[in-house]
Amino acid sequence: MRKIEHIGIAVKSLEASNLLFEKLFGQPPYKEEEVVSEGVKTSFFMNGPNKIELLEATNPESPIAKFLEKKGEGIHHIAFDVNDINEEVVRLKNEGFVILNEVPKKGADNKLVVFLHPKGTNGVLIELCQEIK
Ligand code: ZN
Repeated sequence: MRKIEHIGIAVKSLEASNLLFEKLFGQPPYKEEEVVSEGVKTSFFMNGPNKIELLEATNPESPIAKFLEKKGEGIHHIAFDVNDINEEVVRLKNEGFVILNEVPKKGADNKLVVFLHPKGTNGVLIELCQEIK
């Protein structure tokens, strides 16, 4: 696992939060993208070397809708950049982590992503992501 790739924040309104984070960072998001399969609309901000992803639910079945219901707005996941996502899945499975999707799926921002169950990681949802080349 290499550096933190981004931190994901669950928000009720992407529109309102885009304005808020634009004020915070002094620049607008560089990208907005809907991931239909996940039921989310996302936006991405770069602040120096740090990337922040905002996530809004697009339907009530979305994992983000469920998160907001349970916990309200806030940090939703931490994503780590990996060289070989399939190798990491095997390694972490052998270490006893519960992988939510063992077959990497296409996430936002041109990435293959896998999530680890937060029950096995002190309540923090961990995303592994590998850039699609
Ligand atoms: Zn993410």
